This record gives sequence, structure tokens and C-alpha cells, in this order.
Amino acid sequence: MVKVQEAPIFEKVEMKRDYYHLVINGERVESSNGATIDAYNPATGEILAKVAKATQEDAERAVQAALAAFENGKWKRFPINKRSRILNKIAAIMRSRFNELVELEVLNSGKSISAAQGQVMQAVEVFEFYAGAIVGHSGSVNNMAGQFHNYTEKEPVGVCAQIIPWNYPLMMAAWKIAPAIAVGCSVIVKPASLTPLTAIVLGEICIEAGVPAGVVNIIPGSGSEVGNYLVEHPNVNKVAFTGSTPIGRDIMGKASQTLKRVTLELGGKSPNIVFEDADIEAAVDGSLFGIFYNTGQSCEARSRLYVHEDIYDEFVTRFVEKTKKLKLGNPLDKETHVGSVIDQGQLDVIDSYVQSAIADGAEILAGGKPAVVEGFEGGYWYEPTVIGNVNHDMKVVKEEIFGPVVVIMKFKDEKEAIKLANDTEFGLGSALWTKDGARATRVGNQIQAGIVMVNCPFSAFPGTPFGGYKQSGFGRELCIETLDLYTETKSFISYYGSRPLNPFGIQ
Ligand code: NAP
Repeated sequence: MVKVQEAPIFEKVEMKRDYYHLVINGERVESSNGATIDAYNPATGEILAKVAKATQEDAERAVQAALAAFENGKWKRFPINKRSRILNKIAAIMRSRFNELVELEVLNSGKSISAAQGQVMQAVEVFEFYAGAIVGHSGSVNNMAGQFHNYTEKEPVGVCAQIIPWNYPLMMAAWKIAPAIAVGCSVIVKPASLTPLTAIVLGEICIEAGVPAGVVNIIPGSGSEVGNYLVEHPNVNKVAFTGSTPIGRDIMGKASQTLKRVTLELGGKSPNIVFEDADIEAAVDGSLFGIFYNTGQSCEARSRLYVHEDIYDEFVTRFVEKTKKLKLGNPLDKETHVGSVIDQGQLDVIDSYVQSAIADGAEILAGGKPAVVEGFEGGYWYEPTVIGNVNHDMKVVKEEIFGPVVVIMKFKDEKEAIKLANDTEFGLGSALWTKDGARATRVGNQIQAGIVMVNCPFSAFPGTPFGGYKQSGFGRELCIETLDLYTETKSFISYYGSRPLNPFGIQ
């Protein structure tokens, strides 16, 4: 492993630079075979930087570094207030370099700056949240029959592999790293090959803030090679994965060989139900955000829009009008609503879904083709697209598209809305628009999804559980309960009677 001369000093490192190293054992290092990935700007198609590409040998070094850090126990034995202070320091460094982080995230993902600002702020707040949450995270005292006493302790699960996607590169890294290190685990983060930059920088910030060597390791590399290696590694105790449902299934199967703890945050096809008593303007605006935010590349994007038949025509007219007003353009311009999609492959996937809808007899109400954005002709852009005249047998209604495409359908009553909403293999998000609080609770209770948004387009805040039902995965992130998913519970049973116990009764 070739060390870099200036390592391990991370302080004041340039965020935007030509070359990014792996972060292993508290140092910036080259990959074992010198291989690199080109990180590029999907809004322009231009290469931004070269990134060291981890090999299985590098993954092994990262596992050994994480294991050594866990076994030497320095981090996990830090008093909780000291760990908490360091998490707050990570957040403070991120805050002080907020604009640089936002710019880097926009450049490497093509997302609009307004979206990136919210996500980077949430990444900061996730560290702050867990800095506080860890202080109150503890075991319990349980009732036992007389003369016995039971209490539990929470122990960190050990070395965690954390594999993340390209749609929220920094936020996903924060969602993973913060709770795991808060409880004393060591982590190896495998960012998506398309968007490794901000996760690497976050790893460097952790070290600058005082996280000991080996506790946070960042190794961009191929998912099927390096990600898989981590999933199968006997010294990795837990895998936390966010990504597509097929890869999640594969990971769960492989992790079962060593009975690893697994958390899966997977795909979605979330329903958005607008009742006849909704505030139509708020429902139009919220539904627009629910699908086109982050260019539709959100696991909980509300990509199935169901509107009550009494307001369908009025709603659709206003929704389509506003869709056509969404501004595509320079992602760094704060007036831009919708950024680029992530790459040519994803652009082709999106377009093939739209073409399949047309072939199936659907009607394109807005968009429907790749977009040309002046000054960004080399990038990957798709028009915000609304598709009507669809039914539940169509591919475009059943499958996750992961782009700026929404299907819109009418329903006649609550019962039908619930049936349509649940007619999917996924179960991540859902949204309801109604002024009737009782209806919101009644319908929300029957929706098979981890998140129900009522008159609200936002799905995730530090402290609120995020995760899915059905094939959207299991485990909840972003909340107190996440800390339990990075810990084992140890149960202490003790006897305090005055007479010695003699269960066999042999004298
Ligand atoms: P993906 O193709 O499943 O990849 C996700 C990560 O897994 C990447 O880092 C990828 O590495 C890695 N990977 C690929 N094959 C692997 C393997 N065989 N073993 C181990 N790791 C492997 O997903 P994506 O296209 O990046 O992201 C989009 C998907 O993520 C969508 O389905 C979306 O719904 C889901 N998502 C879910 C949530 C949630 O919280 N539920 C949040 C965000 C996104 P490389 O890319 O480097 O090969």
C-alpha cells in the first residue's frame, strides 16, 4: 500500500481537487494496483477528477484496519461524551465547509444546488443528532422473579460494511457512518463508483475531527468486486446496504453464509393519493416536489399519482402546467429546479420506460424525451414527464424507473385508492393529501409502507425512522432505533439471594 507523503494530515485539505485517494487506517492511500476511476460531472459529461479504485487487496486492508481498530477498543471505550464531542466536531467541520461540500456534491451528481444544500445540511444534522442520541442510548432493567436481577448492555456489533448508491452520495454516507461510529463500531464505506467524491471527503473530515485510525475507511471500487468481497468477508459483522432491490437480495443471500447482521434500504414505487377534499394547490405543489425533486432519482419518489375522479381533470391540468414550468439548467444556479440524470445508462433506462408506456397505449401529458439544455449539451438530461391513460398491468406503473417520470391515474373511493396504492411489490414511501384528519389516519393505517406523508412532501428528517416494507427492504435508518441495529444486546442475569443456589438439589 503506497502511502501519500502528506498523510495523515487532513486538515484544510482541498475539497475540489484532481485526485482522490482511498482512506484506509487513517491515511490517504493509493489503490494496490494503481487503478483509478474517472469521476465526472453528469450535467456536462466532463471528467472532474481521478479517484483511486480499490481492489480486493485494498478491501482486505480496510477490513484488517477496521478490525484492529475495533479490537484495540480505543474508540469503543472512549467515554460516550468524548465520542459525542467528536461527532459534533465532524458536523462543525462540515458546517464550516458547507458551500464547498455542496459544490462538490452538485458537480459529481448533477443534482440542483437547492437539492444538494438540503442534503448536505441533513448530513450535518445527522451527525449532530447521533451525537445527542448516543448519550441516551442504553440497555434496560427487566423484571425477574425475586432474588434475581436482569439488566442489559448495548455493545457495538463490530466491523460494518456500508455500501451506498449514487443518488444521495454524502447524505447516504452520513446516514451510515454516524450511527455506526456513535455506538463504537468500525466502518468500511463503499461509495457508488459514479459518485465517490463527497464520501471520501467525509472520511477525511472524520479523521480530522479526531476519529482514531481504522474506525472510518472509505474505499470506492466496483460493487460486484469490492462490495461483494466485503459482504462475504468473515470478519465483517454487519452489512448496511442502500441500493436496488435485486442487489439487496443478492447481498442478503451472500451475507447469510456468515450470518451477518443486515440492513437493506432498497427500491420503491411510492403512491401519492390526492383526495377530493385536498387543498388542490398544495397537493399539486407537493406532488410536483414528491416526484421531480432530485430529478426523480429518489427511492421514495412518489412516482404513482392517484387522484380522486371528482378533481382529476382540474388537478391534472394544473399539475401538467406546473411540470412544464420546471426549470432545467445549470445545477449550480439556484433557480434550477431539476438537474441532470446520473449517466447515459440511466437516461436510456428512463427513455425505454417512457417508450414502453407509449407502446402500451399510455398518453404523454408532459415531457417524454431526453432534454437538450443550453450550455450542457454533453450532459444527461431528461424532460420532467407525466404519463396518463395507464393501468396497473403496465411496466411503467409496476417498476421503479428512478428518473423524472410520474404516472397519473384516477380512483373513485378510499377503498380503491388503498387497493391501488398497495398493488406493488415495494413499500417505502406514500403520501396522502386530504383535509380530513380521520381519513388520513384511517387510510395511512392501511397503506403497506414504512413512511406515510400527510399533506407533506418531505420524507426524512434526523430522528424520524426511514425504511421500507415488503421488497423495499428492512431496518430503519436516521432514527434512535438505528443505534440498536449497530449493537448487540447483552443480558446480565445475577442472583442476590443469601442461600447458594443448588438447582439439582444434590447434597
Ligand atoms: P445499485 O446498483 O444497487 O448499487 C448500490 C451500491 O451497491 C453501489 O455502491 C454499487 O457499487 C454496489 N453494488 C453493486 N453490485 C454489488 C454487489 N454484487 N455486491 C455488493 N455491492 C454491490 O443501486 P444504485 O443504482 O446505485 O442506486 C439506485 C437504487 O438505490 C434504487 O433502486 C433506489 O431506490 C435505491 N435507493 C434506496 C434508498 C432507500 O433508503 N431505500 C435510498 C437511495 C437509493 P457500484 O455502483 O460501484 O458498482
